[in-house]
Amino acid sequence: MIIAIDGPAASGKSTTAQGVAQRLGIMYLNTGAMYRAMTLGIVESGLDLEDIDAVQGFIADTVIGFGENNQILLNGNNVSAKVHSSAISDKVSAVSAVPDIRKAMVQVQREIASKNDCVLEGRDIGTVVFPEAKFKFFLVADVAVRAARRMKDLEALGESWSLDELIKDILRRDELDSTRSHSPLVRADDAIPIDTSHLTIDETIEKIVNKITKIKNEETS
Ligand code: C5P
Repeated sequence: MIIAIDGPAASGKSTTAQGVAQRLGIMYLNTGAMYRAMTLGIVESGLDLEDIDAVQGFIADTVIGFGENNQILLNGNNVSAKVHSSAISDKVSAVSAVPDIRKAMVQVQREIASKNDCVLEGRDIGTVVFPEAKFKFFLVADVAVRAARRMKDLEALGESWSLDELIKDILRRDELDSTRSHSPLVRADDAIPIDTSHLTIDETIEKIVNKITKIKNEETS
């Protein structure tokens, strides 16, 4: 079973996807964390994204995976604490627009999900990674609500940002993710839209689990 949860930045995908996976007793795959780990590796190595040979060499030498408790691993090292910083958010859309990088990440995602029932969250799960998935959701929320959520996350990392700065940053990232030529952020025609602006995480999880149950029941009746 594949459950695809896509949506723009800070729309509540990660916490929701984690909760849905927990409720169903299946695996959770945060594909954004994979692009973030690639970005960290690229930033640390000072790689020029325009240098196609260097990018291909970097991809060949880099292993992205998951450890215990969904830790994101870059060449076996747990980089979970580093990948959500604003420095990485700033660069991740440029890195994830590189076709070779997307190809490598999608391959890993398909491989993991071919062996496990899985909730995957990202930008292109329902459109590109698993277009045949039976359960697809697309989360949206007002940008001010998303910025307030991001502010809380960054505060936990010791970063202090104003709401206005974060609104600008989220809109910039949405724009880059939605307008790139490869696998842009777009709702799959058959994905169920859910506006989480006025929903708690528990309510969002409940809504998705109920829809999955309904779809399954309709199939068997
Ligand atoms: O979900 P999160 O905000 O952590 O994702 C970080 C970035 O990774 C996104 O802004 C997007 O550029 C990229 N991404 C992607 N495809 C995915 C997941 C994330 O391009 N499936």
